[in-house]
Amino acid sequence: MTEAPPGELFDKLVSLAKRRGFVFPSSEIYGGAGATWDFGPLGVELKNNVKRAWWRSMVQLRDDIVGLDAAILMHPKVWEASGHVENFTDPLVECASCNHRYRLDELPKGVEGPCPNCGERKLGAPRKFNLMFKTFVGPVEDDASIAWLRPETAQGIFVNFDNVQQSMRKRLPFGIAQVGKSFRNEITPGNFIFRSREFEQMEMQYFVRPEDAPRIYEEWKETRRQWYRDLAEHDELFRFREHSPEERAHYAAQAFDIEFRYPFGWKELEGIHNRTDFDLKRHSEYSGKKLEYFDDATNERFVPYVIETAVGADRATFAFLCAAYDEEPDKEGVRVVLRLHRDLAPYKVAILPLSKKPELSELSRSVWATVRPHFQSTYDETQAIGRRYRRQDEIGTPLCVTVDFDSLTDQAVTIRDRDDMSQVRVKIEELVPALREKLGA
Ligand code: ATP
Repeated sequence: MTEAPPGELFDKLVSLAKRRGFVFPSSEIYGGAGATWDFGPLGVELKNNVKRAWWRSMVQLRDDIVGLDAAILMHPKVWEASGHVENFTDPLVECASCNHRYRLDELPKGVEGPCPNCGERKLGAPRKFNLMFKTFVGPVEDDASIAWLRPETAQGIFVNFDNVQQSMRKRLPFGIAQVGKSFRNEITPGNFIFRSREFEQMEMQYFVRPEDAPRIYEEWKETRRQWYRDLAEHDELFRFREHSPEERAHYAAQAFDIEFRYPFGWKELEGIHNRTDFDLKRHSEYSGKKLEYFDDATNERFVPYVIETAVGADRATFAFLCAAYDEEPDKEGVRVVLRLHRDLAPYKVAILPLSKKPELSELSRSVWATVRPHFQSTYDETQAIGRRYRRQDEIGTPLCVTVDFDSLTDQAVTIRDRDDMSQVRVKIEELVPALREKLGA
């Protein structure tokens, strides 16, 4: 991460994200759509890579966790059982003078102080504002047809506890992981993709024997912290923060956040909670279906505890972008480099013919055809080669392959490394293994 002043870094990242096709404001030609964002061609690759890295470490590399993809629209009773209809609220404060709205925790002096926008002391009493988006299923808009857009993916996991446990014959401890959209009608969204109204979550609920929960909780803290160490260079940008008892969600017995130092300060990136048996018990109560675990070794029947790890895919993508952004002086001014981990970089390899001459294009395209099935890759033949290297550095492409006029006779190309700018010449027939070795893939 560069040492640019925080405000400047934030502006640079937002501008780079737009200019290079990572993130666009949603419905921009209509003036934007209230804190929602569209991921462009490079952004969708990056975010998919983040989700893939999470899925790989949480599901594919483990024998104790399975995946799920539950529907967004669920039975309305789910949200009564979970406590969201009653409790998923923020205290909303409105200024009677300028009509600006705040969350109570954003007002340093509470409602007694002046309005941060207009300075008048006309802030009203806080009222509970439910963050769930309400809609109606079917053609009639009445109480019987209410549906909520899910504000977290976790409930889809709880209501499927029995289905998954029975169909997969899972023994405790085991987990269910899910990646999907969530929606929150945030009072004050902002800070780019950090807090938006539509976002994606990567959540995992790990079911354990109650007495094992404190120990397994500590293990998950370490496992999740390590995931960030593996994927981002700057470990000092990540830290734990424990929730105070008042701050803890109604269901949580233990709660830590993994925080990231965003350009606007230390903020929550991921929550790790011991949710006890709250959710399974509530769903049993509201649905009338027992959600229990039978241990045939001990002949016991009980409700498992749940350790949850919950992170936003968008927030994580933003954190990785911040951590990767680097600037260094070079002979043309400043070289901007996204030092993204190779697993996250939108493209692993760029094929760059030295010139647009047809004979070079032809060879370069055949080189690309060789590389393409193995690595996410791109091709660029416009402008001077130096400019093209910089363009690839700016989007985090770890390796460039340059095809020059010598390539026509020696059937070799040059691999250029994003981080140390070193160059090596390799035979085209040895290119794929050479790239694989450099990428550590
Ligand atoms: P915050 O305190 O920032 O509102 P939260 O504690 O309500 O977050 P959780 O309910 O624990 O968040 O959700 C788990 C994760 O989902 C968060 O750590 C965050 O990464 C992500 N997340 C939550 N709300 C948003 C949002 N509005 N936009 C983007 N990501 C979000």
